[in-house]
Parts: sequence; C-alpha cells; structure tokens
Amino acid sequence: MLGIESTAHTLSFGMVDMDGKLSSSFSNLFRPEEGGIHPREAADHHCLKASNLLENIMSTEFFNSNEIEAVAFSQGPGLGPCLRVGASIARTLSKVWNVPLIGVNHCVAHIEIGKNQTGCKDPVLLYVSGGNTQVIASSRNKYRVMGETLDIGIGNMLDKFARTQGIPFPGGPEIEILANRFALNHDINANFINLPYGVQGMDIGFSGMLTAAERKIIDGNSLESICWSLQEHAFASCIEVAERAMAHTGKNELLLGGGVACNSRIREMAEIMCEERGAKAYWPEKRFCIDNGTMIAELGRLLHKVGYSTNLSDSAINPMLRTDHTEIIWD
Ligand code: AMP
Ligand code: MG
Repeated sequence: MLGIESTAHTLSFGMVDMDGKLSSSFSNLFRPEEGGIHPREAADHHCLKASNLLENIMSTEFFNSNEIEAVAFSQGPGLGPCLRVGASIARTLSKVWNVPLIGVNHCVAHIEIGKNQTGCKDPVLLYVSGGNTQVIASSRNKYRVMGETLDIGIGNMLDKFARTQGIPFPGGPEIEILANRFALNHDINANFINLPYGVQGMDIGFSGMLTAAERKIIDGNSLESICWSLQEHAFASCIEVAERAMAHTGKNELLLGGGVACNSRIREMAEIMCEERGAKAYWPEKRFCIDNGTMIAELGRLLHKVGYSTNLSDSAINPMLRTDHTEIIWD
C-alpha cells in the first residue's frame, strides 16, 4: 500500500505491507521564508517536490510497482490547495497502475498508526498537531471528539509564538529546547509565570495564552522562561481534558499523536497522569507523530482489507472532514 500525505506543510510518501509492516516515509516540509503557511505556496512546494520524492521511494529496494495493491491519500481535513496535490497524484497512480484508490481521514490515520506502533487497543487519543488539537475516543462505530481547541491548534500556537521571537517554522522543537534549558537552570516553582489557562469544559483555547506570552516578553521576561510557562499551560490543559475523557469513558490507555507529541515534556505529563490513575501512556516514534505518508498507507491498508475503495467520482478532497465523520469499518 502506498500512502500520500499532503494536508498542510508536509508532502510525504510512505509504504506499508499487507501485514502492517511499516516503511519510513519520504517527506519534504514546506518552510515559509516569512510569515505563516500560505496554502497556495505550500501547494506549489508540494508540486515541485512530488516527482523527486516519488522517484526516491520507487527506487528503494522494497518498492516494486507490480506489487502495489492500492494507493491511499489524505482526503481531508486540511488546506484545499495542498490536499488537491496529493489527491491528483493518487488518482494518477491508481489509474496508471490499475489499482484501487482509497481516500482516508488524516486524523484517523494518526490514531491507527499509533495503534499499529504501540500495540494499544482502545485508547483515548490526545491528538496534538499543527492545525488540530482534539481528544478522541472510539464509541460504537466512530472516533468521537470528546474535546478540542476552540480556536487554533496547539502546534500553530507554538509556531506563532516562535515566529514573533524570530524562530523559524516549525517553532515547537526550538521552544522545547529553550524550555528545557530554563528548567535545567532555574527553580521552576519560584520562577513560574502565570498565563491564561484555556480549559472550558472539555474544550481548550490557546489564543489567550499566546497573546499573554507575547506581552510577557515585551514586559521584559526572558524568552526561555516564557517558553517553559507556555509549554506548561498548553500541555497541562491538554492532559487535563484527556484525563477527564479517560474518566468519562473508563478507558485506561492514552495515546499521543501529532507533531507536538514529539515533545518530551508533554510525554512526561502524559506518563505522570496515567500512572496516577493506573493507566498507561503510549506514543509512536517521532517520525510517525509528525505528518507522514506511512500513516496514510496504514489506514489505507485497514480499509483495503475490508474491501473499501473510493470511486473516482467520490475522490474530491474535503478540507472540513472531521474525525467523527468517518465510520470505523475495519478491525
Ligand atoms: P504535524 O502538523 O502533526 O505535522 O505537526 C507539526 C507541528 O508539531 C508543528 O506545529 C511543530 O511546531 C510541532 N512540533 C514538532 N516537534 C515538536 C516538539 N518537539 N515540541 C513541540 N512541538 C513540536
Ligand atoms: Mg497531522
């Protein structure tokens, strides 16, 4: 199964064999020269990089186009122009190789690759990425959204804050380095800077803490201290909602997914929370946390196994596709 990911900043191709053994992805990340991600510019980037990436994956020893059984692609959610690039490539390859086309839900793919990688069975997923922040749990035949961001995605918030400080996209990893440095050199309890805490019921807002963090810098606080505080507030709010979702559903596994799940502090918080309630926290390797083609291939594989495919006439992208629109017809 070949999987193609192109929802936002990353164009990526990945493979999985029919037993669920994963390959690495071949990816290229769009980094804007200035400002945020302009959808058209990101789509142009994907067009430019596509043939090279595809040639690279096809020239690896495990790739044999005769053995490709189907082609999966991210049908949504995401940025329209970017999604269209991946969908066009997928339609073309499915025609050329005469194999089924399978449109998949990007958010659900994050869950399924996490399950494939960690062996957890029925987790609450804390999905923390650039554009999405959701707490998800399966109930009957769907992955239900128990809580989510009320404004911007958590990664988007970190990237925006980083940009105001001259740190290029993606800002999350650099914020983690600065925050860790602060924690190493300071008494964090004595130096903790309060920011607005955005939990409302099962939902979370991040824009208030972003604005406040920017102001705290203008007030003269060090960048390292604000990176630490921003991480603490943002991650704690996610973990709080995830814990409540576990309590409500009675599930005792927590799975982290999305690019922000690469962060060592959110992993640590997840572990502590789970330990305290007799549950277990899981996360896949970093290369499978960030957007990648392999996760699209993995969900494609599960759908292919139960005979699902997408007709050409139903293969239009859906930028607004939601996690709970997709029926779980596999397993
Ligand atoms: P995704 O949209 O799932 O590909 O994830 C990309 C997002 O993950 C970007 O917003 C990054 O800033 C964020 N990210 C990646 N690594 C880290 C990290 N170590 N800590 C925090 N955020 C991160
Ligand atoms: Mg994602």
